[in-house]
Amino acid sequence: MIPRFTRLPAVAVALAAATLANAQSDPAHYPAQASFPHENRAAVARHLAQAKQLAGADLDDAFNWRCFISPLDKRIVAGVQHDGLVPPTRVFDNLYSIGQNAVSAWAIDTSAGIIVIDTLNNADEARDILVPNMRSLGLDPARIRTVLLTHGHGDHWGGAKYLQDTFGARVATSEQDWAMIESPDHGGGPFAHLVPPRRDQVLKDGDVVTLGNTSVKAYVTPGHTPGTLSLIFPVSDHGKRHMAGLMGGTGGGRDSVSAHEQIASLARWQAITRAAGVDVLVTNHPVHMNATEKEAMIRYLPDAPNPFIYGVEKYQRYMGVMSACSRVQLARLGESGD
Ligand SMILES: [Zn+2]
Repeated sequence: MIPRFTRLPAVAVALAAATLANAQSDPAHYPAQASFPHENRAAVARHLAQAKQLAGADLDDAFNWRCFISPLDKRIVAGVQHDGLVPPTRVFDNLYSIGQNAVSAWAIDTSAGIIVIDTLNNADEARDILVPNMRSLGLDPARIRTVLLTHGHGDHWGGAKYLQDTFGARVATSEQDWAMIESPDHGGGPFAHLVPPRRDQVLKDGDVVTLGNTSVKAYVTPGHTPGTLSLIFPVSDHGKRHMAGLMGGTGGGRDSVSAHEQIASLARWQAITRAAGVDVLVTNHPVHMNATEKEAMIRYLPDAPNPFIYGVEKYQRYMGVMSACSRVQLARLGESGD
């Protein structure tokens, strides 16, 4: 026998579900893509065509992300770039992916300790994600000597103080982005509550950070932030040497001034990386290059060609797509983008 009181909750649940469904299916409440009332339509089309041509078939994912999804649809970005756990992965003989789904962290193993690049959102993530990821790959976090921060947004430096306090790591970034981290709101937004690391080292454009057998060359490439750091370092794939380039600002510029800075920095970065023979793409957010999927391929197919090795020409085209999409964004704001 069914007790009489079960009828009431069932009706209440049905009513609540109907109300929710009505709210969700009302197009008046659907989120809209970002709109640009002053867009220079001809210029948008011209730069889009250029970006698409550069992307070809093999960089279509990067083109769609940087030219359309990221600037236009916050909901997709939030969904794809959600906080989440992903398996840590040894991507090269000396380079380990130790971050989470939304934001990357990298460990470079050297003969004299470990260099960590970026530290996730906060101390909890450093303690509960980054450090366990290192241990599961056989890396002792007590060997962390240096922490390099690609820029002053808290999703990259939030865990730095934990690594500094716990393992004695020395933290380094550019003067401009130290100023951002140390400002009263720590760069603003959701990061205002974070406790910044102590300023151990200021990196200038062209500085080299050497630990044991490994040297990382640092460049200041403003645009995404005033002092975004971009890094070049050697990696080896089954014993074969390659050069990795991590452009710290592939998140792009947000307004006209920063987009112009970004375009200038990308042009300079292309010249620097071409001269250095950079043939490996590394980014500081997995979604910028589908790194999470590439890492799964490495775990399951360790003897297949390493998907992080783009080759010099494709690396250059990737940065060209980033630049062309910055021009698209300027044209959306009403400029020529040239
Ligand atoms: Zn950022």
